[in-house]
Amino acid sequence: MRTPFIAGNWKMNKSPDAAVAFVREIAPLLDAIDGIDSAVCPPYLAIPAVAAAVAGTKVGVGAQNMYFETSGAYTGEISPTMLQGLCRYVILGHSERRALFGETDEGVNKKILAALAHNLTPIVCVGESLTQNEAGETQSFVSGQVRAAFAGLSDWQAAVCVVAYEPIWAIGTGRSASAQQAGDIIRTSVRDVLTDLFGSDTAQAIRIQYGGSVTEGNIADYMSQPDIDGALVGGASLKPTFVDLVRSAVI
Ligand code: PEP
Repeated sequence: MRTPFIAGNWKMNKSPDAAVAFVREIAPLLDAIDGIDSAVCPPYLAIPAVAAAVAGTKVGVGAQNMYFETSGAYTGEISPTMLQGLCRYVILGHSERRALFGETDEGVNKKILAALAHNLTPIVCVGESLTQNEAGETQSFVSGQVRAAFAGLSDWQAAVCVVAYEPIWAIGTGRSASAQQAGDIIRTSVRDVLTDLFGSDTAQAIRIQYGGSVTEGNIADYMSQPDIDGALVGGASLKPTFVDLVRSAVI
């Protein structure tokens, strides 16, 4: 009942020209793949041109971050009103934002509420560090992140969100979590927590992605897990083989 969803996080890669050339190549191919939603998340500067290039296809566009205020003296920030109408998704709370730019659970929650208020679909990132994983703290840490991120959301607001479970030790390292490991954490620390917060109907409607060194070679394993509904893909979303990855995600 949940349509699978693969999103590519391009991070700080591709100029606007390079982004448009790449998306012109992949969008018609992605558009032809039935039974799955796909999206690309370019750097801010490339969003308008990429959005124009994918118009008329079912390929979505997302931003990689956003501030929660709508306007004002926030040098260097981009607001929900600036993204509204230009793109559909916004990645919030990515571990790189949390680790390198000091983002907190509280700030991520404010951003999620602001995104929803402006018709943007948040892709809410959660995930534990290697130290936490090795200390057996994954479940308590990830559950806490989910509770903090979804604080104050109504059932219908929660149902719109996408969650990406991304163990930090698996991002960009080539060391992916096993499908079984990822599926178990997603069930116990994300879906069960969402069930506790919003009830089963809402929790069952929320799409939950795995992220961390996903490739066209391992995506099918993740998709075979009942609670994994897709992937947030970094490195492998920068190459034309992203199309193969999306194709391989359709079971
Ligand atoms: C990410 O950036 O969210 C990510 C999962 O990166 P990678 O696929 O490169 O590990």
